[in-house]
Amino acid sequence: MRRARLRACAVLLALLAAWGPAQAATLLSAASQASAERTEVELRFDAPVQWRWFRLDGPERVVIDVSGAAQGGAQGAAAGIVERLRFGALEDGLRIVLDLEAAPESVSLAAGEPHAITVRLSAPPQSAVASAPPAVLAAPEAQPAPRPTAPVMTAVARPVVVVIDPGHGGKDSGAVGPSGLMEKNVALSIGRELKRLLEAQAGFRVRLTRDSDTFVPLRDRIRIAREAGADLFVSIHADAFDDRRAHGSSVYVLSNRGASSEHARLLARRENEADLVGGIEIQDRDETLAAVLLDISQNAALEASVDIASRVLQGMGGLGRLHKSTVQRAGFVVLKSPDVPSILVETAFISNPREERQLGSARHRQRIAAALASGIEDYFHQYRPARLVEVPAGAPQEYTVRAGDTLSTIAERFGVGLDALRTANALRGDVIRVGQTLRLPITTAAR
Ligand SMILES: [Zn+2]
Repeated sequence: MRRARLRACAVLLALLAAWGPAQAATLLSAASQASAERTEVELRFDAPVQWRWFRLDGPERVVIDVSGAAQGGAQGAAAGIVERLRFGALEDGLRIVLDLEAAPESVSLAAGEPHAITVRLSAPPQSAVASAPPAVLAAPEAQPAPRPTAPVMTAVARPVVVVIDPGHGGKDSGAVGPSGLMEKNVALSIGRELKRLLEAQAGFRVRLTRDSDTFVPLRDRIRIAREAGADLFVSIHADAFDDRRAHGSSVYVLSNRGASSEHARLLARRENEADLVGGIEIQDRDETLAAVLLDISQNAALEASVDIASRVLQGMGGLGRLHKSTVQRAGFVVLKSPDVPSILVETAFISNPREERQLGSARHRQRIAAALASGIEDYFHQYRPARLVEVPAGAPQEYTVRAGDTLSTIAERFGVGLDALRTANALRGDVIRVGQTLRLPITTAAR
């Protein structure tokens, strides 16, 4: 449609202009305040600013890139979960890094008045900042003195955060099968089932981008994943093609360099149209824009995406025939999250009468969800996300068992593997007794 295309171009130009040589803005102040539940950092500028942000872990950081801005003389004051604020010049702006003490439960950024960015970080689940005084503005001198010795770090496993994205929804029904089955309903059902299966596993925290028949713009789906600090974003769809004989499942990762097949290209185009269906004109099929918006950290995320995608594909292969036996690449908008490994699964062809019937069966949808879950679990079994924590100087290398302890709570508390703990103490099972002394196999590395 020509008109839609013109509008898309206008939006594209507007977005590009926002990242062009923006008017200069100077950072006036960076103030933090903290309560037991959350920490807020307010970044004030003397002119309007354009910005984007992302999260990194190991160690935990929030990175905010402000286009066309300069630091001026402002220094940051840390408080609460924010250990330190750092500033660095980008080619066309200012990078602000918040070094965090621990992984926050959630992160959100909002534009404030008149020209401010407010960062809200809620405290981690087991509050690592319980002692933070309420609403205190720390003076620069109050920052912690440098530690006398290099901190000793140890890796501690943390929950795997998976964001499941049932495709389409609300007024956007997605593809519709020959007898009327709608992609949006199939995707929601499989998504819910996948959530249930993953949550039944220890160490998974799962969120859906939609849990009802509602329209969620593509950009919002990405935002949900990033704000949840997702380790994986899984978008669930059902394919369609003019030729009703087309069948089987496919798994996609993002491509910035074009699609792996003509079908992949057409498919990306159709899935990306969701926002036009919803009347919202944000489009970024354009590769130039993608390049501007993407961060180099995507390379690492992409590598993980491909790995997870091939394991999921393997799981799906156990169900029936695959449409393509290798991971496919295409420029899907929902996959354009720079720091979150993301995959898009076309579970089957809803346009194929036989596969439409299968997708209509709750049993079959459960089987699909189970295949997805097994691929995802397989990956995170191998690459368990960890965060580095500091081991206090003179950390105990031994621990005396107290009432209420179990081997796994001890392992978790000291960030050691359960197997390593068993081996270090020549334990056969998990039976320990109160008063028993356990050796802690803490492996340490200087930062
Ligand atoms: Zn779809």
